[in-house]
Amino acid sequence: MKKEIPYKIYLEESELPTHWYNLRAFMKNKPAPLLNAETLQPMTAEELSEVFCEELVKQELDDTTPYIEIPQEIRDFYKMYRPAPLVRAYCLEKALGTPAHIYYKFEGNNTSGSHKLNSAIAQAYYAKQQGLKGVTTETGAGQWGTALSMACSYFGLDCKVFMVKCSYEQKPFRREVMRTYGANVTPSPSATTDVGRKILTEFPGTGGSLGCAISEAVETATKLDGYRYVLGSVFNQVLLHQSVIGVETKTALDKYGVKPDIIIGCAGGGSNLGGLISPFMGEKLQGKADYQFIAVEPASCPTLTRGKYAYDYCDTGKVCPLAKMYTLGSGFIPSASHAGGLRYHGMTTTLSQLCDDGLMEARSVEQTKVFEAAEAFARVEGILPAPESAHAIRVAIDEALKCKESGEKKTIVFGLTGTGYFDMMSYEKFHDGKMTDYIPSEEELAASLAKLPKV
Ligand SMILES: *Cc1c(COP(=O)(O)O)cnc(C)c1O
Repeated sequence: MKKEIPYKIYLEESELPTHWYNLRAFMKNKPAPLLNAETLQPMTAEELSEVFCEELVKQELDDTTPYIEIPQEIRDFYKMYRPAPLVRAYCLEKALGTPAHIYYKFEGNNTSGSHKLNSAIAQAYYAKQQGLKGVTTETGAGQWGTALSMACSYFGLDCKVFMVKCSYEQKPFRREVMRTYGANVTPSPSATTDVGRKILTEFPGTGGSLGCAISEAVETATKLDGYRYVLGSVFNQVLLHQSVIGVETKTALDKYGVKPDIIIGCAGGGSNLGGLISPFMGEKLQGKADYQFIAVEPASCPTLTRGKYAYDYCDTGKVCPLAKMYTLGSGFIPSASHAGGLRYHGMTTTLSQLCDDGLMEARSVEQTKVFEAAEAFARVEGILPAPESAHAIRVAIDEALKCKESGEKKTIVFGLTGTGYFDMMSYEKFHDGKMTDYIPSEEELAASLAKLPKV
């Protein structure tokens, strides 16, 4: 007999994942290697170790080990806020009048307010293991910087955060949370780095960008003794750590014999979505099951839907290696959008390859439609979603409404990556009718893509 499905499926502490799920091990077409921007040769472990922690470099380059054990210290930290609940959205289903069953995996139950903590704690742990003094990083909307600050204070590491200047000014509370956890926060571009000074001379008064903040963080890490650069998305290691989201989701669904038809997530650099789909995509790749996967991105930064699959720089300052990914061009500066976490010009190589192979689809959604969905969701499900997460809500609602038309009883799972308490200025714009839907023109994208490196 089928068990009645509770509002929230909570796993026991003992059911916390013991291993990360390395999706790359199951891919026939592996994601393309990172290239040294000068020699155009695949980056070696030695080269990467100048910038990244050694163990993380191993994980970055490992596309054969299917399951990688999660060290006990990291699992102990995970216990503070995991397993995360998988919620059956009974109230949303009722409000929509859909026959579809909707579930969401809620990653906002920690002070950083998002899934980013899953990788932050792993990266801080390996930095500590290596005997480093501290780490540097960038943060756009602030979620990653907050998560890393928490993780660093836990392990007693110094944490230097370059925060995109417009967010630094717009979100003073985020900045204060980071400082509460002991981080040093600098608005980017700053005069503390060569890249920053150069950008300031070229574009005085700029609000900054993620690509620029990355360049500053990398430069600082390579110049300081005992520091390495860590990052919150895009790279393979981050997807690997985020696989705890997918493994828990699968365990919870399996307990109740539920098999999803559609799995949806928002995609900025691709880490939460990559993590959520990992065990499911692994089954699909092995021919054990089939699922429809949908990546959702903002129409203002349409990387997967309108970008090109090519080698490109990961950052504006071109200090990072080249990655083969869907990209809008590293010089692409998206219009001011209220989903700061989704403004990156590229997409993680793993998801890029899966999209190119037709194993995953992508959709772009307009900002006002996203906020309509966010509000509709908050009013019935109670949780105030992050604007990034609301991209996934939008498409989950659209799919549920399609089921209402067709009468199909599909099971939809989406990732609710975080809460939106620091995004109330965006909600205010929406409520006041002042939100716009900027969509870049073909010419704009072509101009940016014309500058892709010739590889
Ligand atoms: C950073 C962030 C995202 C996007 O990042 P991915 O690497 O694509 O997962 C989505 N939602 C929230 C709440 C975030 O903080």
